[in-house]
Amino acid sequence: MGRGGQKGGVRFRRAFESKRQADQYEAYVKITGHEPGAEDLTAEIDRLKAELRQVKAELRQVRRHTVDHAPTAAQESLQGYWSCNTWDELWEWRRSVIKVVIGLAQPIPEASDFEERANCPLCGSGGHSPHALGYKLPGGLKLYLEGERARPCHVMEAAWCLARETVGKEESDA
Ligand SMILES: [Zn+2]
Repeated sequence: MGRGGQKGGVRFRRAFESKRQADQYEAYVKITGHEPGAEDLTAEIDRLKAELRQVKAELRQVRRHTVDHAPTAAQESLQGYWSCNTWDELWEWRRSVIKVVIGLAQPIPEASDFEERANCPLCGSGGHSPHALGYKLPGGLKLYLEGERARPCHVMEAAWCLARETVGKEESDA
């Protein structure tokens, strides 16, 4: 692999490791009208890095917005990740949020005669089963909030991502 590539030159033609790579190269030449030189690639990488930074910032905004619009009763608990400094504290926070949210759940009277079921107090989801209303209390809702279901709670996911980011940043700064 890589035989025929010339270090420091712009002729990478024979160094392609796959047909896909060769096609991408051809596409680049077709679009730009010239072969990629090191400067083009550096500029392109810088552009992509800037774009990635922007997308990450926007994603963070969307997540904050999602968490900020969760029900008031869950707000204090949800926002508590700000005081977490370690992963242990983060997991502790997560467990406490799930406990609080389960405590906020309102059983749906018509859902079942033999068990308590409720919609998610954070996002209002009633589950995706055609045969049942809401999530079984407390275990079913707990699994949903823990992200153990195919379609997890997007509010909880947003809070969890923000929280991990906060702690991850502080640990790498230290
Ligand atoms: Zn939810």
